Parts: sequence; structure tokens; C-alpha cells
Amino acid sequence: MTRPAPVPFLDLGAVNAPLRDALDVAWKTVLGHGRFVGGPEVAAFEDDFAAYCGTDHCVGVANGTDALELVLDGLGIGPGDEVVLPANTFVATAEAVRAVGARPRFVDVRPDTLLVDPDAVAAAIGPRTAAVVAVHLFGQMADVDGLLAVTDRHGVPLVEDAAQAHGARYAGRRAGGAGRAAAFSFYPGKNLGAFGDGGAVVSDDAELVARIRRTADHGRSATSRHHHDVSGRNSRLDTLQAAVLGIKLGGLDAANARRVEAVERYREQLPDWCAPVAQDPLAESVHHLAVVRVPDRAAAVAALDAGGIGWGVHYPVPCHLQPAFAEFADDPCPVAERAAGEILSLPLFPGIAPAQVDRVCSVLAGV
Ligand SMILES: *Cc1c(COP(=O)(O)O)cnc(C)c1O
Repeated sequence: MTRPAPVPFLDLGAVNAPLRDALDVAWKTVLGHGRFVGGPEVAAFEDDFAAYCGTDHCVGVANGTDALELVLDGLGIGPGDEVVLPANTFVATAEAVRAVGARPRFVDVRPDTLLVDPDAVAAAIGPRTAAVVAVHLFGQMADVDGLLAVTDRHGVPLVEDAAQAHGARYAGRRAGGAGRAAAFSFYPGKNLGAFGDGGAVVSDDAELVARIRRTADHGRSATSRHHHDVSGRNSRLDTLQAAVLGIKLGGLDAANARRVEAVERYREQLPDWCAPVAQDPLAESVHHLAVVRVPDRAAAVAALDAGGIGWGVHYPVPCHLQPAFAEFADDPCPVAERAAGEILSLPLFPGIAPAQVDRVCSVLAGV
């Protein structure tokens, strides 16, 4: 008997293969003009991505973590300030807060979506709060209407960490277009992924974007290359990555639709004890990850391993319990803490075959 083929957690080959010809042309074009930093592909992608997000401006940066840090810095946030963020996020969200010298204030998430809870944010906001970060985790936007009601009442900016949510919507609003500014990552495995690191900030706030653009390019004056208005840093989106991203952006909606189809197939066939993380009826998720909650993760994982099926946990330790951030664990976050022991991410990528989804489901049904 032949063993069934393994099912990878993520297969970027299936994502990139159909774009091969267009990508070959893009490489050659950049090689031809030789402007590897700040080439025309960067501005073209910035324009296209701002239009996609429904924002006025976009600035490409080196990665998603820098994008978050540059937004917080551009908002003037620093030592003495507090930034409210969910405990259930990738550690980069908290790193960006620390990088500008502010204090992370971790709050709990909603038990259904595992996304930041507006009521918990309202309870955590205080005189030092300088921003609230909404993390659109797993491809689903947080309740930005509920969050904006809180942040507007307190006159505090809402920043979106949209690193896992390119193309997602909430009540018609695109990820990136809901808050004062949003940070995106183009890490290869993200819904819109480069061939290396990349990131972007989008916003309608022209002055904020100009400050970020300047800081990310050595504090350089917008009008004179050799004048440096402020002491900045180097965090730019490479021309080659922008060329790749420009091509992939054209296929993003189709790729996201294939993720949605795969998740629907999972929902139809998963055993009852594998409960997909709930979808807010107002949210249109782009399913960066297919996350289920299971009562006995060790048993599920053992079956997946035996069946040659890839899996992940996003994330096994909530941020406020990481050694790096333990000093900021002001409040318990019981929902995030409990979920961390139950969540399991199943294989998902555009181009995953229906038979691969079926196989994952039948292996889990046999646990
Ligand atoms: C990937 C990710 C980031 C960081 O992006 P990088 O490009 O890897 O720096 C930030 N926040 C979240 C939620 C992410 O998933």
C-alpha cells in the first residue's frame, strides 16, 4: 500500500508558480534599470497598495515590525507613554511598542474571535495611553467599529496591525483603512508575500506618512537628498520586492478567495471537536490561518504528525507571558491564556487541493 502524500502546512510553490512568467519579466526589468533601491516599482506599488486599501497614502518599508514601529514613532509615541494591544498577537506588535520606548499594556481578547476586545481596551485606557493597536489576527479584522467608539471617546489614535489581513474587510471597510494608520508585513508566508522581507504603512494622514517616509530614509529632506532634517534610520522596501509585490497584488483577491473556499471545505468536514475560531458576522476574513480550537491538542497533533500533515500553533504563549514582556503583565488575560493551549492551525494556502483538505479532515476524524 502506498502512503498518502504529505500535506504541507504552507506551500509557497503553489502560490508563486502561476506567476512565474510575469516575475521573470519583472526581474529583468529591474536588472535592466539597476535602481535597486527607490526604483520606479516602489512608487508604483505604493500607489497600487494605497488604492487597494482605500487609503490616500502608502509608504513601503523594510518589514512589518518596522512599519508598526515607524507608525508609533510618527505619532510621537515614546517613553512615558502606554500603548494598548491584545495579549494574543505575534510578538512583533509588542516589540514595536518597546522599540519606541513606550510601555505595552496587554489586554484580553474576545472568547469567540480571539481578537482584541473593545471592552477590555476601554477598561485599560488611562491618562498615559497614547495609542491602541487593533491586531487583525488570522485574517479577520478586529471589531474596528467597537474599537473606534472607544478610541474616539478618549481622543487616542487607533493603529491597525494588518500583517495577517491584506484584503480583509469589516462592515465594508478594508483592513488598513479603518484606523489612523496601518502596518502591513509582506513576509513570504503572509497573504501578500514578497520574496524576502518587506512591509508598508498606509494612512490618510499625509503629514504622518511624510514623517514616516523621512524617518525610514535616514531623515532625509523631501526636497534635498543631502539634507537630513532628523536623525532617521534605514527601513526601505527594495525595488525587487516592490516589483514582485506589484505582480502579486493583482492576484491577491483571487488568492484570498481560494483560502475562503478551503476554509469552507474544512468547516463542512471537520469533526465536531475541532471548532473553527468564530467569524464576526460583520467581518470578511481573508483566512491567513485556519485556526481551530481542540480539547486535546497533543492527540490531534500526534495524529497529524503520523499522517504527514503540517500544522502550527499561533501562538502557544501569549505575549504577556513571554519572558521578554513578563514585566508588563499588568493584568491576567484569561481568554488568551486558555486559548493558547487549545488553538491549532491547519494547512492552508491558495492552491491547497480539495483532496488535501479532505485528507486533513479524515485524519482528524480518526483521532
Ligand atoms: C508577521 C507579523 C508582524 C511582523 O511582520 P514582519 O514583516 O515579520 O516584521 C507583525 N504583526 C503580526 C500580527 C504579524 O503576523
